[in-house]
Amino acid sequence: MVFEDCRIPAENIIGGKEGGGFAILEDTLTSGRVSYGARCTGTAQAAYDLSVKYAKERIQFGKPIASFQGTKFKLADMAANIEAMRHLTYSVAELFMQTKKIRKQAAMVKLFAAEMLQKILSDSMQIHGGYGYMMEYPIRRFWRDGRLFTITEGTSEIQRLVIAREEGY
Ligand SMILES: Cc1cc2nc3c(=O)[nH]c(=O)nc-3n(C[C@H](O)[C@H](O)[C@H](O)COP(=O)(O)OP(=O)(O)OC[C@H]3O[C@@H](n4cnc5c(N)ncnc54)[C@H](O)[C@@H]3O)c2cc1C
Repeated sequence: MVFEDCRIPAENIIGGKEGGGFAILEDTLTSGRVSYGARCTGTAQAAYDLSVKYAKERIQFGKPIASFQGTKFKLADMAANIEAMRHLTYSVAELFMQTKKIRKQAAMVKLFAAEMLQKILSDSMQIHGGYGYMMEYPIRRFWRDGRLFTITEGTSEIQRLVIAREEGY
C-alpha cells in the first residue's frame, strides 16, 4: 500500500511517538516466533510418522527398508531431534507466559526448529525414495510447506542477527 500526502493526527500515532510502532511489531513477532517452534515440530512429527509407516511397508531386497541400519539411523535422529524441538518450544512458551522479555529465546526457538525441520524433511523424502518426490504423496507437500519456515516471520539469518545483538556482539 502506498499513501501519498496522507496526514495523520499526532494523537493517532501508533506507539505514541514516531517509530514507536516497531516496538509493538517486535512484541508480536516475538510470540509469533515461539509459535513457529510448534509449527515446525508438528510438521516434523507428521513427516516422521509417515516415514516410520512407509519404512515398515516398503520392501526392498526382500525386507522392509526399516530393517536396514541406514534407515534406522535416519529415523532415530529424527525422533531425537523432534524431542529436542518440542522441549525447546515448550520451555520458551512457558517463559513467555512468565515474562514477555524473550526476544533472544524466541529467535533461538525459531532458528533451531526451522533449520532442524529442513534436515528432518530431507531425510523423510530420502526414506520415501522416488515416491516422496511425487505430488501424490503428502511428504512432498510437507517438504515444500516446511521450506517456508526458514524464510517467513524473519529469515534464519535475521534470527541469527537478533541472537547476536542480544548476546552483545
Ligand atoms: C508464503 C509466504 C507467506 C508470507 N506471509 C507473510 C505474512 O503473513 N506477513 C508478513 O508480514 N510477511 C509474510 N511473508 C513475507 C516474509 O516475512 C518475507 O519474505 C521474509 O521476511 C523475508 O523478506 P524478503 O522476502 O524481502 O527477503 P530479503 O529481505 O530480500 O532477504 C533475502 C535473503 O537475504 C538475507 N538477508 C537479508 N538481510 C540480511 C542481513 N542483514 N544479514 C544477513 N542476511 C540478510 C535473508 O536472510 C534472505 O536469505 C511471507 C512470505 C512468504 C514466502
